[in-house]
Amino acid sequence: MKLVFATNNENKVKEMRSMLGDAFEIITLREAGIDIDIPEPHDTLEENAREKSTVIHNMTGRDCFSEDTGMEVVALGGAPGVLSARYAGDQKSADDNIALVLQQLEGVTDRGAQFRTVLSLILDGEEHQFEGVVAGRIALQRRGDKGFGYDPIFIPEGTERSFAEMDLPEKNQYSHRARAFAKLIAFLKTQR
Ligand code: IMP
Repeated sequence: MKLVFATNNENKVKEMRSMLGDAFEIITLREAGIDIDIPEPHDTLEENAREKSTVIHNMTGRDCFSEDTGMEVVALGGAPGVLSARYAGDQKSADDNIALVLQQLEGVTDRGAQFRTVLSLILDGEEHQFEGVVAGRIALQRRGDKGFGYDPIFIPEGTERSFAEMDLPEKNQYSHRARAFAKLIAFLKTQR
């Protein structure tokens, strides 16, 4: 089965492909010949994920999925949340975003946080959503140089290593996106 993945983020494509068996194939927007900046105009991950998959489904007429992810920090009242990509400004710089979170948590002892992913699948014209969550904490400083986004400052529960200190198979054992994607794959297996 072929699914278009409605994202321009090559890191996410790499993560998803590393989890796929032979039964499914992911086609990127680039491979589908689509070059657009997909809008994320809403206040919730659920609505943004739906918007992205709907836009791409309407353009291609194909089965597709999208995802929207946010990092939710307890001491920041759930921020950056749905604003994670542009928390420090529209330049969408991961480095600036990390710097801002670390600055806001200076001297704060409760460093609890979670990543939450909402996947929106459009199959045969119908939408289905799948959620993946990983609890953890924000490190005192950046650690590791792998991964992307907030990976250098997020330490998932059950380990002392940040996501950026892990190779992909190890990150996939814990990650929000892997958990949501596992649900999507299980669902697809019941459909075909
Ligand atoms: P979006 O889902 O692409 O809008 O991502 C929201 C923000 O969260 C961006 O700043 C991403 O870099 C960041 N992000 C998404 N997934 C991850 C992840 O697995 N690790 C670290 N940061 C992430």
